[in-house]
Amino acid sequence: MHTNEDLTIPRDFKKHTLLPEIVHWEETSEHVTWGRTSKAKWHDNLAALLVPIGPLWMLLNWIALEYFDGSLAEAMRAFASRDGVQFAIQHFPQPSYAAFRGYAAWILFQAGLYAFLPGAKCLGQRTPGGHLLSYTANGLMAWTMTHVLFFSGACVLGFWDLATIANHWEGLWVAANGYGFLLSVVALMKGYCSPSFPEDRKLSGSWIFDFWGGVELNPRLGSAFDIKFFHNGRPGIVAWTLMYASPSQFHTLQHSADLIPSDISYAAHQYQTHGHITTSMILILILHTTYVLDFFLHESWYTRTIDITHDHFGFMLAWGDTTFLPAFYTLPAQYLARYPNHLSLSQATCILTLGLAGYTIFRQSNNQKDLVRTNNGDATIWRKPATFIPCTYTTADGKQHSSLLLTSGWWGICRHANYTGDLMMAFAMCATCGTRHLLPWSYFAFMGVFLMLRTRRDEGRCREKYGERWVEYCGRVQWRLVPGVW
Ligand code: NDP
Repeated sequence: MHTNEDLTIPRDFKKHTLLPEIVHWEETSEHVTWGRTSKAKWHDNLAALLVPIGPLWMLLNWIALEYFDGSLAEAMRAFASRDGVQFAIQHFPQPSYAAFRGYAAWILFQAGLYAFLPGAKCLGQRTPGGHLLSYTANGLMAWTMTHVLFFSGACVLGFWDLATIANHWEGLWVAANGYGFLLSVVALMKGYCSPSFPEDRKLSGSWIFDFWGGVELNPRLGSAFDIKFFHNGRPGIVAWTLMYASPSQFHTLQHSADLIPSDISYAAHQYQTHGHITTSMILILILHTTYVLDFFLHESWYTRTIDITHDHFGFMLAWGDTTFLPAFYTLPAQYLARYPNHLSLSQATCILTLGLAGYTIFRQSNNQKDLVRTNNGDATIWRKPATFIPCTYTTADGKQHSSLLLTSGWWGICRHANYTGDLMMAFAMCATCGTRHLLPWSYFAFMGVFLMLRTRRDEGRCREKYGERWVEYCGRVQWRLVPGVW
């Protein structure tokens, strides 16, 4: 059995001279030293506790916003002081047929756009099973078409009003949760019975963990419709900006029937409800729209990120993409539309500067890695030739492949500067809401914990994949997220 230490890296490794792919041994998946571990340990099953906890947490947020002035503490106090069943009956969001129908139409419409719109073909990253998959990056066109049609349908043709998401938000919330669970079950069954790429299927030996963490890495319908890529990017993230285009549930302490149907955005709703649009609302819209547009502008880059290259498709991604993304990531904006926060000019300037600085670090670091990897190291970063550590890894077919670990630019300052930039943006978004309530800050708290855990998980995997080369990289670049801190 070969280890990474067996691999000889030529000392005179130069740009454009990536190691040839060498077949060293017979084909067997035993040679794969990276990717998700095959067997779940008993404590891995604990992750499945998040299956009920996630939706309950979203429910608590929804109830706090809907009934308790955005106060999580009040919502929990009320829950503790009353009969639990009675509380649930009184506050649980009600399903509606119209919302289910609308949600199904939304998923089918987005699936149609993904399947049929033209777009650049891009390659993802080689999987542990040895596959190099192709994707169609047509997300920007899908996002644009969706928004043009939504606004035309509402403002020109009068087919629906712009408050339609708002009017049905309660039912949509239920429908999204239902779909997230259904999709997770289908993904599990498909993984067991009909995997698209058996070499990349990981059976953990525990159906509980399989349900949570997924079985298939890249489940597909036919050869082209990538179920994970579609759900990660389209129904949830396209919906973010559309939700802003509808006043959603932001009808201060009133119910859907009291909504003003001519509202065209959270900002407009805030104006109609409170008589003005706050700077904080404008800031959150700028920051969030930047994030969404950036995602679709760089969709081909996204095919080479952890979500696509390493995470298997189970409940974590299926429910996360369909429910958690639209419901949770928009929390600061949801809060602001109900409870305007006034910022002084200096506060607003600081928040915007922090958010845009975070975005710059996020985008530059992600670009630097992508640029250097796609040009086999032949790139200039900050006006100097890129420096990197050449490395190799092995796939299930026993083949050895070459790669590189960038050591200049942001990747020479800390090992996850892209996460640092993301966190700065998250902080700026939450800061627009002020400090009156904890609820909008849960977005930043979540991102902090999530990205720190992701850092640990990712580094373990890189250590397995690249062996001593990874250790060498960590020696050269000491810090993970913030130089001098961690
Ligand atoms: P990265 O894009 O940072 O990918 C990590 C991978 O990059 C590693 O597994 C390794 O993979 C490779 N790598 C690590 N170090 C180096 C190096 N020095 N040089 C070259 N390649 C290296 O992580 P994510 O996919 O998690 O994140 C991508 C972006 O998306 C980030 O900006 C993140 O903040 C954002 N994000 C946002 C989320 C959100 O919910 N808002 C969720 C997740 C991510 P390999 O070698 O196998 O290619």
